[in-house]
Parts: sequence; structure tokens; C-alpha cells
Amino acid sequence: MKTEIVKVTEEQIRQHDKNAFSKIALAGEIIKKGGLVAFPTETVYGLGGDALNPDSSGKIYAAKGRPSDNPLIVHIAEFEDLKLITEKIPETAYALAKHFWPGPLTMIFKKSNQVPKETTGGLDTVAVRMPRHNTALELIRAAGGFVAAPSANISGRPSPTLAKYVQEDMDGRIDMIIDGGMIEIGLESTIIDLTEAVPIILRPGFITKEMLQAVIGDVQIDRTLLDGDSIQIPKAPGMKYRHYAPKGDLTIVEGEPERVAEYINKSYYASHEEGKRVGVIATLENMDRYHSDCVKCIGSRQDEEGIAKELYRILREFDDEEVEVILSESFHTTGMGQAIMNRLLKAAGHKKIKV
Ligand code: AMP
Ligand code: MG
Repeated sequence: MKTEIVKVTEEQIRQHDKNAFSKIALAGEIIKKGGLVAFPTETVYGLGGDALNPDSSGKIYAAKGRPSDNPLIVHIAEFEDLKLITEKIPETAYALAKHFWPGPLTMIFKKSNQVPKETTGGLDTVAVRMPRHNTALELIRAAGGFVAAPSANISGRPSPTLAKYVQEDMDGRIDMIIDGGMIEIGLESTIIDLTEAVPIILRPGFITKEMLQAVIGDVQIDRTLLDGDSIQIPKAPGMKYRHYAPKGDLTIVEGEPERVAEYINKSYYASHEEGKRVGVIATLENMDRYHSDCVKCIGSRQDEEGIAKELYRILREFDDEEVEVILSESFHTTGMGQAIMNRLLKAAGHKKIKV
């Protein structure tokens, strides 16, 4: 299959550029006919297919090499459309949608029989999101209103934040890639399950627990998310897989900056002796402390949003540069830092050392 790559910018959509809209119309037709189109959103690039067509969902799983018990998120462009695909919309959903849609929040509902089990990995619940991205919203409309879209990476690789990474993973496997440039947030959406008595966060993201609580009161967080030793199985089926894995062996080092640098430099020399390439994920504040030849700056500790945006790009760069050992600084586990640490821990297979 030849994968067509088209460029559409948010600016073009704002200007009602005819050329951009005709590309989106074409992409919408592809999805309506059962094909797959990767597209930008504010979180990461998505791999879109018709959410109401079981064959399309099957193709998404095949293109990603994703286990078919790992459900897809259904993307909509109008709040009204939620009614068709859900059984019951709780009051909390109205309040959350008012505050955070369009935006990086996915809500889980009891599904209606319009949604095939192929899309929900066999579950009787459905995950729904309205992205805050004009190109994505126009594509969803052009595709008939319901687009199932997981991240547009091969299963187990970091989610793509640039179209070139989508191309790396998906070239020849899907019909089209819409290149919308660099992604704004860089981490996947927050997922909240509204089917429980107390809503529960299944995946941390840009919308934090504190932000959710300010709108709907009591919110819990799935305990398995930050705790590698937990014997419980995470409630979001996807969270049990070792996602976001770089090819190199990643360890997170936690402690006072001097001690962390001391440990990382020692590890560097040991691995270097063995002829291994070593990469370090460093913050601006500490990067000069490291001796490795491949230190990547993920941004300032003061700017967690900046760190979130760079994380997947850096992990992919280490892959490209054939780095075999990766050592990373650790981050706060509150606010946006919680999402960063959650992804980093998963990438590291929960390997974290306290010094
Ligand atoms: P991705 O599409 O790559 O962002 O991954 C989607 C995530 O949402 C996975 O971790 C899924 O397990 C989770 N998810 C999707 N639908 C449901 C659902 N109905 N119940 C629980 N988790 C879900
Ligand atoms: Mg994913």
C-alpha cells in the first residue's frame, strides 16, 4: 500500500483555506470507505479509522501490531454525538465536557450497541474524546463523526509527536498521513472512568487530578499507575503493556542532583568500558554535571509542559542513535509531573534507582 502524505496546518484551517479542506475531505472519504488516516491532535498523532466499522478497527490493530484486547478511543467533534455511542451520560460528564472539551481528556462510558466490540476490545464500555485541534475536528466531521484513533505508532514504540515518526512506523501500512507539524502537548490524554461510583483516573495526562477535582469533587487514581510492584491489574487494558519502550535499557535515577550525577557518571564509565553507547536524559539545571557523550536536554525543571513535549522525541532519537543504555533524571509525581513519570516509568519497565 502506498501511504500518501499531505500537509495541513492549523493556520490554513483557521483561514478556511480551500486546498486544506479538500485534502481533509479526501481523508474523510478514505475513513468512510474503511481506510486508515493518521492525523495530528493536541496530544500525539492518532491513527484514525471509522469507529463504527468493525473492519476498520481490525485494520488499526493490524497496522499497529496492537493486541486486540486493548480498546481504542473514539474521537468526536460534537457533544451531541456522544448520545449515539453511549448508554447513559452521567451529570459529571456534562460538567467535565464543559470545562475540558475540546481538550486532552478521555471519558469512559457504558457503550451503546452502535459501537462494535472490535472497537472497545471486547468491553461493554467506550472511551470518548473531543480533541482540541481544528484539523482533527474537521477530519472527524468529514469522516462521519466517529473516529477510532489510538496513537499512530507501532505498538511498544513511543507515541509520535512529529509526522516523520508516524511515517517511520506506518509507511506502507496505512492510506494517508496528515502532517500538521510538531504536536502541542506531546503526551496522551488523561483517561477518566465515569462508570464507577467515584470517577477514577486510569491514565494521568495534561488534565490533572486536581483540575478534575475542582470540577466534579472526589476523584480517585488507579493505584497501579505509579507503582511498579503492584499486583493489581490496571483498569485501562492498555496500561498493562510495556508501552513507550525505547530500544535502549532505561533506568530512572532519583535523588539529590549531586548524587544522581555521581551515580549516572559512574554508570556511564562502566557501560562505556563495555563498549556500550550511553544516553542521559537531563534537565537544563543539571545537564553540565554529566560526562556522557550523548546528553539530551529535556528542558527546565520549571517547565513541566516543555518536558512532556520533548520526552517521546528524545526516546526516539536515542533509538535512532542506537543508544544501548539510557539513564534519566527523575521528576515530581504531582500535577503534570505525574503524567511524565508515569510514561517514563513505563518506558523503563519500572526500573528506578534511589541514590
Ligand atoms: P491510545 O489509543 O494508544 O492512547 O491508548 C488508549 C488507552 O485507552 C489504552 O490504554 C486503553 O486501554 C484505554 N481505553 C480505551 N478504552 C477503554 C475502556 N473502555 N476502558 C478502559 N480503558 C480504555
Ligand atoms: Mg498508544
